[in-house]
Amino acid sequence: MTSTHFHELIADPQLRKAIDAHGYEQPTPVQLQAIPQVLAGKNLLVSSKTGSGKTAAFLLPALQKILTTPTTTPESSRILILTPTRELARQILKNAQQLLKFTHIKVGMVCGGEEFKYQKAMLRKNPEIVVGTPGRLAEHVTHKSTDFTGLDFLILDEADRMLEMGLSEDVMAIAKTCSTDRQTLLFSATLEPEGIRHLIKQVVLGDTEEITVKEVANSIEQQMILADDVKHKEKLLIALLEKSPFEKVVIFTNTKAKAVQLDNVLRYNKYKVSALHGDITQDQRRISLDFFRQGKTQVLVATDVAARGLDIPGVDLVVNFDMAQSGDDYLHRIGRTGRADAEGRAVSFVAANDWNLTNGIERYLNLKFEIISIPGLVGHYKGPDKLKSSGKAAGTKKKTDDKKKSADKDVKVKVRTKDKKNVGKRRAPSSKTESAKVEPANDLGDGFSVFKRKPQV
Ligand code: ADP
Ligand code: MG
Repeated sequence: MTSTHFHELIADPQLRKAIDAHGYEQPTPVQLQAIPQVLAGKNLLVSSKTGSGKTAAFLLPALQKILTTPTTTPESSRILILTPTRELARQILKNAQQLLKFTHIKVGMVCGGEEFKYQKAMLRKNPEIVVGTPGRLAEHVTHKSTDFTGLDFLILDEADRMLEMGLSEDVMAIAKTCSTDRQTLLFSATLEPEGIRHLIKQVVLGDTEEITVKEVANSIEQQMILADDVKHKEKLLIALLEKSPFEKVVIFTNTKAKAVQLDNVLRYNKYKVSALHGDITQDQRRISLDFFRQGKTQVLVATDVAARGLDIPGVDLVVNFDMAQSGDDYLHRIGRTGRADAEGRAVSFVAANDWNLTNGIERYLNLKFEIISIPGLVGHYKGPDKLKSSGKAAGTKKKTDDKKKSADKDVKVKVRTKDKKNVGKRRAPSSKTESAKVEPANDLGDGFSVFKRKPQV
């Protein structure tokens, strides 16, 4: 580890005081690499693992810069941070407010689900920093309630997600209104610029540095349990929670409907549950997550809306009730545990229809999940009867696919069209990644209008 102290990177006394109050002493590797580059005026694409301190790696140098250099455009905001979900925007708002508590700098948040008029009035007061989700912010751009003409920093957290279809259109519309002299910073745990260079070029202007932090992987134990069907998965879940000691658990489902169903099953089994998905109101979402943060609930049932960026102390178990839809989605989901050098455990339930996906994710991550079972609940499914050399199930797949195709005809057509239009938005296909390259999660359920057009599975 490094022996550099934060004070060697950050000179502003008010920020130093806030860093000390926060208890940070040494910068993490990504902070050590990114902070000097941001201060040197570079545009950056930064990739480093989940929970490695990326938020402070962009916040601290950006804040230092606006604290130490006066603006020539006082009517404009100076830092704009875009995130894929409201919950992440709120988390970053709080982080920024903490770091700014010894200053007079104002931070405003602009997300969907909250009153437009109120946001407009807030934006009129010209906060130096704006954090938000792209859908609602793009509406404000249309209404001319924002002023980013003197912007110093445009920051995309979870940048690969922000450049995916459904969010990137709004991101680009907003970026067009930002000063062309700005610095642009892109951060994610899964940012591979290859394949999305054309999108990056539209949002990052001028020369760009790439930083990929090579560190030891997070210490997250990764296991799977074979399951017969949903009912079996429900029994496995209850037994797993009963038998494994945990402080806080996040359970991911692939659909809102499944999240609602599990919420009920868990409540029936006397668990205190928070839920986070697109079918609950913004107020409920906020309360739900606050309760989970504060430990008033120990279980969070969520769709992928909770997969990105959320930093919740005490999460030591992640359960994929349904397998994640891609290797990247899997990494973000399990990255809710094992943060900042803590240990964690991830258990995925794998039924016959999850097998090929799971196999693809294993190859993508270059690891094998340990198969565990729960005594008394060992099901009939033992994996495919026959395996192809790739590890995928042989024989049965096509039939199932065909059946599904005719059942979900409309949905499938939509997904294919979307994919065609969006070639290259995720990782460049390679023999290593191809198997895990599946549809991006359809159901983020974050209430953005764009998601309503996506198939609801
Ligand atoms: P990432 O965005 O890389 O997933 P976060 O920025 O959310 O990670 O940080 C993960 C956790 O690490 C947070 O709880 C944060 O407060 C903590 N953290 C960040 N930087 C430091 C540091 N230098 N020293 C100690 N803890 C840190
Ligand atoms: Mg983050």
